Amino acid sequence: MAQNYVIKVTPATLSKMKQHYQGQLLTKKVPYTVFTAKAGATTITAYQSGKVMFQGPAASQEAAHWEGALLPSKKKKTAANNTALPSNFSQWSVIGSDEVGNGSYFGPLTVCAAYVAKEMIAKLKALGVRDSKELTDPQIIQLSQVIKELIPYKLLTLQPTKYNAIQPQYNAVHMKVALHNQAIFLLLKEIAPEKPANILIDQFTPAANYRKYVSGEANQVAEKLFFITKGEQYHIAVAAASILSRAAFLEELVRATQELGFKVPSGAGAAADQAGAKVLKKGGLALLGQYAKLHFANTEKAKKLAGM
Ligand code: MG
Repeated sequence: MAQNYVIKVTPATLSKMKQHYQGQLLTKKVPYTVFTAKAGATTITAYQSGKVMFQGPAASQEAAHWEGALLPSKKKKTAANNTALPSNFSQWSVIGSDEVGNGSYFGPLTVCAAYVAKEMIAKLKALGVRDSKELTDPQIIQLSQVIKELIPYKLLTLQPTKYNAIQPQYNAVHMKVALHNQAIFLLLKEIAPEKPANILIDQFTPAANYRKYVSGEANQVAEKLFFITKGEQYHIAVAAASILSRAAFLEELVRATQELGFKVPSGAGAAADQAGAKVLKKGGLALLGQYAKLHFANTEKAKKLAGM
């Protein structure tokens, strides 16, 4: 989905950015710009005023590197005090939250907030809770069952039917903000009177953007919030949340596969187009809308494949 983000940075950050994108600079001259660059699918236009525009499907993630100077430069990541997180953060009692399914045509959007009190950190680590990208699907399912027995969590699943109904009003980022906020709100209520030292959200949009969207939500949680990309590296609560949301997403794909009688894939590639065409032939757009996020470009491709 095309996204458009504008952030405002200091002259110092602007020159750091120019350095960072050195190998990806575009030669075209745009008036009043310091540089233009293309990083993956994201186009970056930096103006003399300090405004920097990010355009493309991953615009928010790219902008997140610069917003709030949380990760000013990937190269300096190992340097001390280079994040906004307090030192010793990984040893604190923290609520972590993460989501899965945003980039997959089939399946729901799942969001989980998980609370890991400091006494539980070593235990979860010993059980193998870590970055879900390092785990296989069966390991994720198995670990999710263990985690659910050990810690408080809130898991929200936005099924495709509901997703499609609200998608015209809520863009994908707004939806994620609303779900993260609601999961955290419910979890805070459940663990009360105990309180986490902090809340860490695996960052998917610049902090200012999160705060903008959350301000319109009921039950908004605005305090103790930290945002960082690759959050699972900073606290095991995010890793646990990531495993629980991924397991829930995978289980929904398995259910869809059983209901439809053929393999329902993850992702948004050619396999998703093919499966989409099969669903269309079986029950048209009404059936497809129960399993897939219809605003993805895959819908048009599936229609062509199905001869519609
Ligand atoms: Mg994430």
